[in-house]
Amino acid sequence: MASDTDIDGFPKTCPTPPDDGSNVMHLRDMLLSLWTIVMLASPAFATGEVYHLRLAQSWPTNAPLMGDAPRQMAALADSLSGGRLKITVDSANKHKAPLAVFDMVKAGHYDMGHSASYYWKGKLPNAQYFTTMPFGMTTPEQFAWFYHGGGLQLMEKVYAPHGVLSFPGGNSGGQMAGWFRKEINAVDDLKGLKIRIPGFAAEIMAELGAVPTNIAQGDLYTALDRKTIDAVEWVGPSLDLRMGFQKIAPYYYTGWHEPGADLQFLVHEKTYRALPPDLQAVLEAAMRLAAFDTYVSFYHESAVELARLRTEFPNVQIRPFPADVVQALREAYRRLLAQQAARDPLAREIIESLGSYRRIARDWTRVSDGTFLDLVAGDD
Ligand code: CA
Repeated sequence: MASDTDIDGFPKTCPTPPDDGSNVMHLRDMLLSLWTIVMLASPAFATGEVYHLRLAQSWPTNAPLMGDAPRQMAALADSLSGGRLKITVDSANKHKAPLAVFDMVKAGHYDMGHSASYYWKGKLPNAQYFTTMPFGMTTPEQFAWFYHGGGLQLMEKVYAPHGVLSFPGGNSGGQMAGWFRKEINAVDDLKGLKIRIPGFAAEIMAELGAVPTNIAQGDLYTALDRKTIDAVEWVGPSLDLRMGFQKIAPYYYTGWHEPGADLQFLVHEKTYRALPPDLQAVLEAAMRLAAFDTYVSFYHESAVELARLRTEFPNVQIRPFPADVVQALREAYRRLLAQQAARDPLAREIIESLGSYRRIARDWTRVSDGTFLDLVAGDD
């Protein structure tokens, strides 16, 4: 269907994303930097001052996948620096403020954080665009936007006034719409529905009459089990089965809202500037490698756990929302996005950047992955 506007209702302009290469570390440069770092970190160089950083994560102790990212990052920082950069990771069990990681890093109570930036959309509305957007980009598309489409520069623009630096911190891949006690057959079924769902998707759900709430990970199962909530959106098979939702909710709806949810590392800017240049490079390399490994692990766990769900819980119904529900969600999304863009010039800049980059990336995704999946349909 030809149209002068895209899914967000914005003009189809600016087909070429900014990419001056200034923020991009290509693989060759990264390997060169790592080689340099390893040389510097060899015993002959490992006599420098040891820097100790503290990181607060939104996740409980020993949380799989999301918690792997800061753990791996800290281990990489230690080994790549020859022991000169030590990072202690505090879980939510210790700091007791899983949804306040941004505040703690901004205030300098912690040097670093690991979380999801839509958790603080109430305090920093423009941060939510860097996690994921409903009807937005898939993970590879979003990575390309961050590193080649101007995403990192926009993220810096949002966080700089708060003295905080933000870096991609791992990606869950496409997420599921969640576990529902009751079937969703029409838009009216969303009215009064108490659902745990964060971010922009929560505002869209509220537009359609649902009652969204954000509840920390540790309380989700109990909230659904005791009917404090009627539905819960969490992640996808990678993590949902471990939470046990399949035992108490028979409908598992597919995603529309978080097609590639990115986690974030936060660094207190003064902490970062106080590090010697080689340790800044170590820290950035460690965050980037840990983010990549986390994405790969999420993909693997999603595949394995979906297979387990089909085998062990065959009665769970996996399905998309009906087409008219999806259309109502899309229309509410467009209205809210237009309001956001009108509210703030920086919001408009980010929304237009996301929209224009998604358009060119999506064409390639359809031509490559889309046609390939059609081609091999039925092979398995
Ligand atoms: Ca989610």
